[in-house]
Amino acid sequence: MVSFLPYSPNSKVRCPQCGKPKRLTLFINLNTGEIYPPEFGVCDRIQACGYNKRPDKKSQLEQVKLIPKPPKPIDYLDIVEVEKRMSNNAKNHFFEFLKNLIGKEGMAKVREQYKLGTSLIHPGFVTFPQIDTEGRLRQIQEVLYNPKTGERNKKKGSQRWGFEKWKYPNLNLEMTYFGSHLITGNDKPIAIVESAKTAIIASHFIPSYNWVASISLGMLSNERCKSLKGRNVVLFPDLGAEPIWKKKAKYIKGMTSIKVSDYLNKNSKKYNLNNGDDLADLILKQ
Ligand SMILES: [Zn+2]
Repeated sequence: MVSFLPYSPNSKVRCPQCGKPKRLTLFINLNTGEIYPPEFGVCDRIQACGYNKRPDKKSQLEQVKLIPKPPKPIDYLDIVEVEKRMSNNAKNHFFEFLKNLIGKEGMAKVREQYKLGTSLIHPGFVTFPQIDTEGRLRQIQEVLYNPKTGERNKKKGSQRWGFEKWKYPNLNLEMTYFGSHLITGNDKPIAIVESAKTAIIASHFIPSYNWVASISLGMLSNERCKSLKGRNVVLFPDLGAEPIWKKKAKYIKGMTSIKVSDYLNKNSKKYNLNNGDDLADLILKQ
């Protein structure tokens, strides 16, 4: 029986038609475990490329080019890493900014909800733990902000990972949306923004949603949204990124509903927003 090669990191290969790397899903013969050569496959880029070639009974299996390794299980980090950072009372630029914005009580609340902390090695950096819907720690993002404006520090290295790949090469970490742990136990709709800062600010001013952050555009995918299955989801792209997010939203399956908000666009003139501004920028101006 012929089937798609199940997804794992590096399971996708270069598409023979459009030439884009890591976009072609291969076929596997489930009876023998052999993988069909990359002449056969389906390209991710359904609209831009559309390559789709299934092997038939006659397709000879060439030398097996890829030996399917059992996927390495995901490693989870000890939750004590979150506690250590939460109880670190060193200077934290983001907290200074946040306290001015939403007050002491507001800040205490979001700190507890999102388990925010202070970096143990990078002075002034806030820590954004990525805890999944099962309460498991996946990674910790550490970021330096300007304490007055709340803008991300522009210098190189102002964004770090608590567990860098080069430092922990044997850990098989897989990121999740920041704030994922907050979606369990309630049926509030889920709002996805790009940055952790925006999710935190929005959660204070618009508490009727579960606010989660994709952290990067690449993270916005069907694969990463699997833990949100069966929920109502609204995407809040940064100003100018709507077309990309709308395209991506089409590939996200299994949600009760998925919408791309045009709230930012609608208000962009009134509040004098620029390309790249996000919901937090709009909230700050309101
Ligand atoms: Zn292609």
